[in-house]
Amino acid sequence: MNNLKAMAEVIQKARRLLLCGHVMPDGDSLGSALALGLGLRLLGKEVTIVSSDPIPDLYQFLPGVETVIVGKVPEGDYDLLVAVDFSVQERLGSAPEAMLKKGLPVAVIDHHVNDRPFGHYNYVRTAAAATGEIIMDLLDLLQVDLELDIAINLYTAIVTDTGSFRYENTTSETHAKTARLLACGVPVSRLSNRIFGEQPLVSLKLLEAALGTLEVSPCGQIAWMSISGALIRSVEASDQHIEGLINYPRKIKGVELAIVFRELDEQRVKVSFRSKYQVDVNLLAGKFGGGGHVRASGCTVDGRLAQVKELILKEAKDLFREGSHGRHS
Ligand code: 5GP
Ligand code: MN
Repeated sequence: MNNLKAMAEVIQKARRLLLCGHVMPDGDSLGSALALGLGLRLLGKEVTIVSSDPIPDLYQFLPGVETVIVGKVPEGDYDLLVAVDFSVQERLGSAPEAMLKKGLPVAVIDHHVNDRPFGHYNYVRTAAAATGEIIMDLLDLLQVDLELDIAINLYTAIVTDTGSFRYENTTSETHAKTARLLACGVPVSRLSNRIFGEQPLVSLKLLEAALGTLEVSPCGQIAWMSISGALIRSVEASDQHIEGLINYPRKIKGVELAIVFRELDEQRVKVSFRSKYQVDVNLLAGKFGGGGHVRASGCTVDGRLAQVKELILKEAKDLFREGSHGRHS
């Protein structure tokens, strides 16, 4: 279907909608779901927004976040499930997945690289820096006014997925859209402080501990940190405090590929990848059943932390051998 107008029609026809972002929600998935939810409510639709995982404290300021239902889908007759900011079923989480099994039609709106999104209706625009950009176009098609609450959610979606307009995905379109959001009255400095300028003390304690695990390959182009469950517990941190840690190995001059290994339990490790100019990390994560974008991706790999590190680092180091093909994107 890749036609946003057709997607707008599908959404327009539904009266009771269930909206959800991905597991381990981030600023784009939450901001996009909330902006769409607020917009659809203005059109008189019945909207239920669900999140499989808890909302990180960082995003508790988002307008409408208090209406998000965590960990379950309330009983009800829904016409359509709209999945935003992901297009693989594994990132749906178990509660909304049960609805899918009951036969509820699914619409996917996303910007990740994926040839076969899992929805009955799919709209994927990989050129969008954030799913929030697509939601903004969708709300225009649905003739929803950009009220301030909607604009704050869209701005958060865009500013987080572009790393404050610093990543390669930032385009003139991103800035043009952001200019419109600012014209709606988005308080940039207040939001910047909330999202980037302030952290709970525990995040800094975790950073201190995580930096102790920092390693750099002999070639100087790969850097990684290893976050074990014990390390997280030692500083009384939780998963939500890990977001952003990968920027530290990425910051090192000369490093092209940054990796964070996070022990989920004794059998599973979550791996995050970021690259700067050359390595296609979507391909790299894809080799381990994950995905994402060319410069930011992730996967969850079965095994103990040490084993998974060895497996991934071998594959990563291979990319830096002279004449390697997997490196260029
Ligand atoms: P993060 O490292 O911040 O968790 O994720 C970076 C990017 O990769 C995000 O765009 C995210 O959606 C994607 N990603 C992370 N983990 C997975 C995964 O397990 N599977 C897929 N398909 N994408 C992932
Ligand atoms: Mn996104």
